[in-house]
Amino acid sequence: MNQLIRTFTPGFISLVYILSLATISTAIKLSSSSQHLCQQLETLENYTITSNEVIYETLRTKNWVETAWGEPACIFKPRLVSELQIALPLIVDSNVSFAIRSGGHSPHHGFANSDGGVLIDMGNFDRLDLNQEDQVASIGPGLTWGDVYTYLESYQYVVVGGRVLDVGVGGLTLGSGLSWLTDLYGLACDNMVLANGSLVHASNEENTDLFWALKGGGNNFGIITELSLSAYPLGKIWGGIKKYDIKDLPVVMDAYYEYQSAANKDPHANLIILTSATNASVGIWVSMIYLKPQENPAAFSAFYGINTISDSTAIKKFTEYMAEYAIPKFERLDWHAISFVRSQSLYKDIVDIIVNSSAVETMQSLAGGFMTATIQPISPRVAQQGKARGGNTLGLVEVDQTWLAFTAAWLQPDDDQTAHAAGDSIIEEVLGVSEIDDNYIPFIFMNDASWSQDVIGSYGEENIRRLKQVQEQYDPDKVFQRMVPGGFKLP
Ligand SMILES: Cc1cc2nc3c(=O)[nH]c(=O)nc-3n(C[C@H](O)[C@H](O)[C@H](O)COP(=O)(O)OP(=O)(O)OC[C@H]3O[C@@H](n4cnc5c(N)ncnc54)[C@H](O)[C@@H]3O)c2cc1C
Repeated sequence: MNQLIRTFTPGFISLVYILSLATISTAIKLSSSSQHLCQQLETLENYTITSNEVIYETLRTKNWVETAWGEPACIFKPRLVSELQIALPLIVDSNVSFAIRSGGHSPHHGFANSDGGVLIDMGNFDRLDLNQEDQVASIGPGLTWGDVYTYLESYQYVVVGGRVLDVGVGGLTLGSGLSWLTDLYGLACDNMVLANGSLVHASNEENTDLFWALKGGGNNFGIITELSLSAYPLGKIWGGIKKYDIKDLPVVMDAYYEYQSAANKDPHANLIILTSATNASVGIWVSMIYLKPQENPAAFSAFYGINTISDSTAIKKFTEYMAEYAIPKFERLDWHAISFVRSQSLYKDIVDIIVNSSAVETMQSLAGGFMTATIQPISPRVAQQGKARGGNTLGLVEVDQTWLAFTAAWLQPDDDQTAHAAGDSIIEEVLGVSEIDDNYIPFIFMNDASWSQDVIGSYGEENIRRLKQVQEQYDPDKVFQRMVPGGFKLP
């Protein structure tokens, strides 16, 4: 609120206030229990925002895309762990549903926002600290990776995080602890508030079962207030984006296959491919990174013979490289994920689907509609490192594989169902071709999955059984399963 007052003139504030009140009073029908709960939360020494405050509208719509916006009865934005410890049992007793938001980058409705319940906004949890001696970074979930990388870079360090600077830390680290950036697995020890208000610490030494569960269990156990990640020394890197014409997708995918097939894969090299058949101006982006200041490393040699439209690869700072992969904001968004093992013949079928699928045509026909495919190579080291650092919760198989994500964007709420169905249908097509030679892997990557995909169900029976055991121990009343409707739930 103070910040708003400093930024805008009083006249503007009253206009926003009147407009937002007009929208809100017609939109929200609050139950008496949520009204009562919000009144209780307001009496605490903390920061609770109700719908008659100007900043409510700003916070309600803070999620990255409109599909994720909600209409919470109130927004609870604690500053201290102790405030959360008092409030959470109150919320649980009231039986009012709630949502947890850190960066708010999940595009799915209800995942990090609420309709009629309480939205717990973790934006004030922004602690950032580096212990160089132990090589550990302590990070608040309310930060974005841009904040984290910029801070660590001033010490010439880095952590394994997201590929886009403005993406939120909390959901990503909780979701999977993984990143496409290197094959190293991010270590995370956490402070977490349980449903009864108690605080637990989970790491490879303490509460190891909970730590294991958090490496993929999403928001099913508690609210994370602080994370510790392994930090690695990093100076300048070589990297950037090579752009190719969409017609060259078959040769780019051949090069990708060759890159992925290297007998001794260079652990300093990684890449991601983003391509869109609906937008000629996007074409194909191959974003390459080599974690040493070495020009044109051999790891990417399969790509060097293909004509580029533009090429920004150079020796640069890590944050300069990350800034190039900026993704514009969209109005409405959905994405779908699928995984399969490395296979040259399958990649040819997938090129055909990316370019010619009827789902692509459908997206193109919608107002502002388009679809992109993101191709992410995952090596056996990811599963190996994950196992070595607390266990393989995701049930990853130790083979070279690709995690493919289709992202659909569009403008109109009326097209939500059509866009979601287009995502479902293109995944079905990929499933069909990947099953032909047994290349399909059931694993679904949480951070790229659509709301309707059974992410945790894809981790394998034994892992699901263990996750339920951990739930029994840390959330015996299944509060996070029952009262937090958003997010990927235990099956
Ligand atoms: C442009 C863009 C690029 C992306 N790039 C990557 C990438 O490179 N790698 C990758 O892995 N993912 C990527 N993602 C996906 C992104 O990591 C996920 O959407 C992630 O959930 C975002 O984290 P967040 O803090 O913004 O989560 P939010 O959107 O705030 O929340 C997402 C989920 O996490 C839960 N949650 C959030 N905070 C907490 C908490 N403190 N305690 C308990 N539960 C919590 C919420 O309940 C919700 O279910 C990208 C997303 C976007 C929009």
